[in-house]
Amino acid sequence: MTSKRMLITGGAGFIGSHLCDHFLSKGYAVVAMDNLITGEIANIEHLFKNDRFTFIKQDVTNFIHVAGPLDFVLHFASPASPVDYAHFPIPTLKVGALGTHKALGLAKEKGATFMLASTSEVYGDPEVNPQPESYWGHVNPIGPRGVYDEAKRFAEAMTMAYHRYHKMQVRIVRIFNTYGERMRREDGRAVPNFITQALRGKPITVYGNGSQTRSLCYVSDLVDGLDKLLHSNLNTPINIGNPHEVTIRQLAETIRRLTKSGSKIVSKPLPVDDPRQRRPDETVARTKLRWTPRVPLETGLKRTISYFKKTS
Ligand code: UDP
Repeated sequence: MTSKRMLITGGAGFIGSHLCDHFLSKGYAVVAMDNLITGEIANIEHLFKNDRFTFIKQDVTNFIHVAGPLDFVLHFASPASPVDYAHFPIPTLKVGALGTHKALGLAKEKGATFMLASTSEVYGDPEVNPQPESYWGHVNPIGPRGVYDEAKRFAEAMTMAYHRYHKMQVRIVRIFNTYGERMRREDGRAVPNFITQALRGKPITVYGNGSQTRSLCYVSDLVDGLDKLLHSNLNTPINIGNPHEVTIRQLAETIRRLTKSGSKIVSKPLPVDDPRQRRPDETVARTKLRWTPRVPLETGLKRTISYFKKTS
């Protein structure tokens, strides 16, 4: 157990709320901050009875102040699905850019270690597969995904500048596709869309011909990787993601089978700039953090399907 205290921005979101659970269970005091544009109180409702938990409803884009000491600042606030950042393009740019600046400023003031939730989207539509941390990416800055991709690229640049200039301890995690309980049914991503469609017997919408690939990491594996990274001394970006790569059509078929659904699989237009392939090169996480994802895709999907059934 520990007496350390941390701020988690985006603490009511999908990943943020799992981080709150995890670090509270390890004895940390946790302050969660969220403006609730895509986060949900339901994700953290069970934590309000814990006297080591505090919630502040606030937009991280504005000046933030948290009274008392902080050992860690984890900046996880941001819309994170293509549908969400299409709905909130300017808040997405602002939270990645201005919000990262505010969170870094607070971490500097408190002498805290700062962790940035970055993304595999910094690699854009990658020309190399798998993607190592050394790959600079292939991003369209002005396409519909640019608001997220470029905000996160700026956030990484800002975080490295604070590390180099202010000598701050920073951790940058490039998170690859993650799934699990507390994803929003309507967030538009493949996993919640396919599960919801399959459970309702509605057509499963595969965009394009479904040959594009993703590599899906179950949320508990991600949280384990984030904890290991936070407690490492690695100040440069690290990929955390499951290297098991599947096509989106395979994902749709797997979800249809696991839900025992009779839904048809139908084709819809491929969104602009949709990456054709994505798989983390997780060698650095494996060797330097001794991290390896443990939950196979079907196991994680079954748990996620049960969650969607319970909350439908
Ligand atoms: N996708 C799909 N049908 C859907 C939602 C998504 O075929 O109903 C595709 C999407 O075009 C992309 C992949 O699934 O190729 C993963 O999309 P998601 O939104 O989950 O995340 P991304 O990796 O694109 O950020």
